Amino acid sequence: MNRYRNTWAEINLDAIGYNIQQLKNLLPEGRKVMGVVKANGYGHGSVKVAKTALNMGVDFLMVAILEEAVKLRKHGIEEPILVIGRVPPRYAYVAANLGITLSVFQLDWLESIQNERFNKPLSLHIEFETGMNRTGIVTKDQLKEIVNVVKRMENVRLTGAYTHFATADEIGSELFNKQRLRYEEMLETLTSLYPHQIITHIGNSAAGIQYSEKMLQYTRFGVSIYGLYPSADIRGMANVKLKQAFSLYSELIQVKKVSAGESVSYGATFITKEDAWIGTVPIGYGDGWRRGLQGFYVLVDGKKMPIVGRICMDLMMIKLDKQYEVGKKVTLIGEDNGSMIEMDDVANYLGTINYEIPCMLTDRIPRMYV
Ligand SMILES: *Cc1c(COP(=O)(O)O)cnc(C)c1O
Repeated sequence: MNRYRNTWAEINLDAIGYNIQQLKNLLPEGRKVMGVVKANGYGHGSVKVAKTALNMGVDFLMVAILEEAVKLRKHGIEEPILVIGRVPPRYAYVAANLGITLSVFQLDWLESIQNERFNKPLSLHIEFETGMNRTGIVTKDQLKEIVNVVKRMENVRLTGAYTHFATADEIGSELFNKQRLRYEEMLETLTSLYPHQIITHIGNSAAGIQYSEKMLQYTRFGVSIYGLYPSADIRGMANVKLKQAFSLYSELIQVKKVSAGESVSYGATFITKEDAWIGTVPIGYGDGWRRGLQGFYVLVDGKKMPIVGRICMDLMMIKLDKQYEVGKKVTLIGEDNGSMIEMDDVANYLGTINYEIPCMLTDRIPRMYV
């Protein structure tokens, strides 16, 4: 699609490659990175990120829903892809045809695909519930039942076993150790019942960074490959240096002098104390740039300029320190003349986590790759 607007996101694929290398270096010899590209690569663009990861030697990708995996296949990606969510059993054949690995954590699910005739073998990774209480099988009896059904099925095989930690982003959590032990017990049961090659993976970014030595064959790195730390605690550990890959830019479309005592934007919530240069920036909550960012700031020539008045659907206003030309670059996220607005700064202002920020910026903002 042609790009006409002057608001855009810049995705630095070199930074993503760099982050993957740093994360790889943390892991013990022979342990691998699974590249997590769900939610359109955390808003960065799943296909570009996946291709960058594959170039860096990543050989397994993870997404949340089947659509996301199909999209990667449609763009020529042939490496293994795991769908972590529950795909309705009636669509399991889609995964089988495209060689996409699905997750299993329910006997019923497996029984509903029992009579399907897949043209190609369907690979399944089984999820163990160990303490997150989201998805996953809970007991060894359930495990036994599932293994028994799989053994009777012709074109279905278990190729992996995983779990997911609830508190790996906190330093030294008790629950982490408990989950780790429960996983070991379940895995032992599985290997005794099902003597085939099983791919093991337990950790996300936080676990992979904090407990690198304890990771198994794969670590499911998501947020960290985009150069974001999973929490302030993990960032504080300072054992890996990451580069934020996502920047967000726009340009001034009008600059005007507003007299003292006048108001700016809907509701007249901001009133100028003295004559002020006000710039208009073409981004708003229709782009996912939330109204809650009123009072936050952007960068112009590396200087902080506050967002004043209510953020509109397509526009917002900033208070400038002097007159600037129309077309002047405005940095909303990223580096500008030695200053930096981090994803964490935006997230902290909104009272959320950095994960949410690139995901909330809609596809009305074009992603440009450098
Ligand atoms: C999203 C997700 C990940 C990646 O988590 P990050 O914190 O982004 O590294 C890993 N595993 C599962 C099961 C997930 O849902």
